[in-house]
Amino acid sequence: MPELPELELLRTALTRYAAGKTIGTVVLNPKRAFVIRYPPQDFVRELTGRVLDRVERRGKFLLFQFRDGGVTLTVNPMLAGRFAYCSRAAPPLPATCFVLQLSGAEDIRFLDATLGARVYLTPDPARDVPSFAALGPDALDPHLDETAFLERLRRHRGELKNVLRNQAFVSGIGNAYADEILFAAGLRPLRRASTLTPEERRRLYAAMREVLSHATVRVRATYEAGGHPLHKQDRSFLLIHGKGKSLCPRCGHRVSAVHAGGESTYFCRACQR
Ligand SMILES: [Zn+2]
Repeated sequence: MPELPELELLRTALTRYAAGKTIGTVVLNPKRAFVIRYPPQDFVRELTGRVLDRVERRGKFLLFQFRDGGVTLTVNPMLAGRFAYCSRAAPPLPATCFVLQLSGAEDIRFLDATLGARVYLTPDPARDVPSFAALGPDALDPHLDETAFLERLRRHRGELKNVLRNQAFVSGIGNAYADEILFAAGLRPLRRASTLTPEERRRLYAAMREVLSHATVRVRATYEAGGHPLHKQDRSFLLIHGKGKSLCPRCGHRVSAVHAGGESTYFCRACQR
């Protein structure tokens, strides 16, 4: 699932590539177009001829803004939504849901192998996109200082992993980076927020900012160095998430993996308390 660091890369890269370009044609894949929460013919008509101004991000949503305003293309990629930016002549990509053919010869293609993504076209995402209005501040929001974070945390008593992934608490964190943040903070995912000492609360805040800032820089650097196309992710740098058969990089204990509800949580029983 793309989370804050990967979506930041998409935001900046798509803005750099496509700002000022006109959508000449919109091509839907009828078998996969149901990720679009909008009548398909209207989706095509509304977007054709629009000039992209910029891509913004709010939590795990990407928002495509156009020069003439009016509507915002809002995308929640969920598990497997990906954006490709490529030449129109490039071979078809698997799981393509729709293609925005831009002026020049480039495409923005949206892919989703699991069809869990949600795509909206609306003048007002806060009104029309479920859960959008309830989003908490972005996890890297400059205004979300330690004091503001601790104040919000006081209202949440549940398991830390769930608290971090609660988009109404702070937005942008999913399964993978929640594991990384809790590893960095030395806190167990199933620990309840209500049991944290003041020092542990401050550690959680510092770990959240540090892990996400570092990952954002790292993800961008890998992409810029030609490490992978835009629609692929490289998370080989993660320390604990997905490392179920490895040893803890901090203390050498075997990494624990807990699988529940189709998701996996990774942590170290020895150095996360
Ligand atoms: Zn450890």
